[in-house]
Amino acid sequence: MLMLLKDIFCQDRAVGRLQQAFAAGRLAHAYIFAGPDGVGKQTTAQAWAKMLLCRSRTEKKGPGPFFDSCGGCESCQVFDGGGHPDYHLIEKELRPFTAKDKGKEAKKDLAISVIREFLLDKVAARPAMGDHSVFVIRESERLNASSQNALLKALEEPPKHCFIILLCSRADKLLPTTLSRCQMIRFGPVDEQHIITALSKLGVGKAEAEYWARFSDGQLGQAITWATLEPKDTTCYKIKIKLIESLAKHQLSDSLELADWMLKAAKGIGEVWAQEEPNTSKTDINRRAQKGLLRMIIAAFNDAMKLAAGIGENLVNADPAGQIEMLGRRFDAEQSARKIATAYESTRWIEANVNEKLIFEQLLLNLTDSAIISGLTT
Ligand SMILES: [Zn+2]
Repeated sequence: MLMLLKDIFCQDRAVGRLQQAFAAGRLAHAYIFAGPDGVGKQTTAQAWAKMLLCRSRTEKKGPGPFFDSCGGCESCQVFDGGGHPDYHLIEKELRPFTAKDKGKEAKKDLAISVIREFLLDKVAARPAMGDHSVFVIRESERLNASSQNALLKALEEPPKHCFIILLCSRADKLLPTTLSRCQMIRFGPVDEQHIITALSKLGVGKAEAEYWARFSDGQLGQAITWATLEPKDTTCYKIKIKLIESLAKHQLSDSLELADWMLKAAKGIGEVWAQEEPNTSKTDINRRAQKGLLRMIIAAFNDAMKLAAGIGENLVNADPAGQIEMLGRRFDAEQSARKIATAYESTRWIEANVNEKLIFEQLLLNLTDSAIISGLTT
């Protein structure tokens, strides 16, 4: 069974605002759920839609109103089965299934054909099962200007039965006209302790859970993905240990080999990730895996910088402290800061579609220190 609203434990404020509006009969017809990736925007939208569509919703009295789906009615059962006719998930991956762009690959943008055919053509239709229909747009930061302009009509005068929710990690990418027609619900980062608890429930060990909780910076979904993906014969955590270990001992001469290892590691992670998310494009997933490895590097140098400055608390890499100490001894705070800047730059290159082999080789060449190049050892 899909998650109920009561099970969404980490976004009480966001869910509370929706509940209050609903109880007062003031639910808006268009919302933006804004916040970083992986903090529960889509899970909440789905559970909220299920509640709206439920034929015998429950109401719990507490400090505030709390409505939830019953989980047992016909609507809930169909919803859990994944094919509710009144629940529409709009995503860029639908492009090949439109009449206009039939068979064409999904692009980076959310195409106007998707908005037209999967939303505009459908909003006016009466709901098939109940009194409402719900449209959820994933990654609405990818709506380009023409898609947003097309969407305006539906946002301006949505039919009474229809609710539209835009999930968005970059509200600054939305046009003022879009923003002004929607109510904004903010989703904050998830508390670190919540993430650790959630990971422990999934059987993730303590040290690993702590690492991923800090690594993911309040993005629960991301923490779960990295902690539970199992690339061939290994885990992402073991990959992380090996990566930091290699960085601590890294010499200029092994840069190319290490770059090659990183690319292969990212590919391995991407392959299992793609099985979990068959709808997301392989390119997107590969990039996420590569950027994840870069974030591991950034976190390690950040920790080394803290250690060099005499701050030993709140390290992301609290576990293999020896390795971070090695990095900290090898690079002073200023050098670590430069390595961090280099790794961020590589992240931008990945987004910009630069050849990945080149990016990683260049990065690793830049991650050694001049003391090693001139033959000195630390
Ligand atoms: Zn129900």
